Amino acid sequence: MPELPEVEITVRRLDAVLRGASVESALAPGMNVMKTFDPPLEELAGREITAIRRVGKMPVVEFGDLALLIHLMSAGRLRVFDKRASPKDRASRVLVRLENGRELRLREFGTKQAAWVKLLPSDVVFDDEMLATMGPEAWPDPPPFDELVTGNRPLHSLLRDQRVIAGIGRSWVDEILWHAKLSPFKRGDDLSLEEAQELRAQTIATLGAALDHYERVIDLPIPDKLPMPLLVHRKQGEPCPRCGTKLEAVFYEDYVMTYCPTEQTDGRVLKDRRLSRLLK
Ligand SMILES: [Zn+2]
Repeated sequence: MPELPEVEITVRRLDAVLRGASVESALAPGMNVMKTFDPPLEELAGREITAIRRVGKMPVVEFGDLALLIHLMSAGRLRVFDKRASPKDRASRVLVRLENGRELRLREFGTKQAAWVKLLPSDVVFDDEMLATMGPEAWPDPPPFDELVTGNRPLHSLLRDQRVIAGIGRSWVDEILWHAKLSPFKRGDDLSLEEAQELRAQTIATLGAALDHYERVIDLPIPDKLPMPLLVHRKQGEPCPRCGTKLEAVFYEDYVMTYCPTEQTDGRVLKDRRLSRLLK
C-alpha cells in the first residue's frame, strides 16, 4: 500500500523523465476508474505533462490547466513503460500514451477495482472533496501535534486519518509509533506536550528516512513492490530491534498493527481482535 514516502519517490522519478513529454492519446480501460467525465480523457491528447507531484498519498499529473488526480487505494501503481500496454493487460486502468512509444500507466493488482482517477481543471483540484478535507502533510513540516493530533481516538487511527494528517497509512503508522515509544491505543487527547513533540519529530524522521532510503535504492523502472525499510510492521514474533522483546500484533480484518509491548504498552499484550471476535 503506497504511503507518503512510496508515492513521493514515485512522483520524483516520474517527473524527472516525463516532464515535457507530449501526450498522443489517453484512455481508461478500467471499467469504473474514471470518477469524472467532463472534461473527457481525450482532452489530454496534444498536451504536455507539465508536472507530476503528490498530495498526501495521491499522485497528481498535471497537463497545463488540466490535472489527473489519482487515488491508488491499496493496489494501484503509477509507472512509466517504454512500450504500450498489451490490450490483454487486465491490470491496466488508465493509459496515457506519450511520444516515442512511452506510456504512463495506472495499473491495479488483484480483482478489486478500487483505484480511481479524476480529470479536473488544475485550478480546482484542491476543491475536490477529498483534498479540501485533507489535513496538513505529515512530511516535511507538519504543524505542532498537540494542536493537530487530538481527539478521543487512538493514535493508530488518528495518524492514518487523512483529514487529520496526510500521507500516513498502515505500514508507517506502526513504525512512527514504535520510534516514538507510544502505544497505538493511546488517545490523542491524552498526549502530553512532550509526547506530542516527540511524535511529531519521529513522524518527520521516520518518513524522511524512508524517503532517503528510496532515493538510494529506487531507480527506473520502479518496482511494483518497493523495498520498504520497515523495522516492526508485520514483524510480530521477531525480537524488537531496540530492546529485544518479542514484537506483538493485533490483527484486524485486513491489516495488522505491530508494536513492542515493553516500550509501547507498559508490558501489556493487547487483545487479538481476530481471536476475541471468534470467541464472542
Ligand atoms: Zn522494544
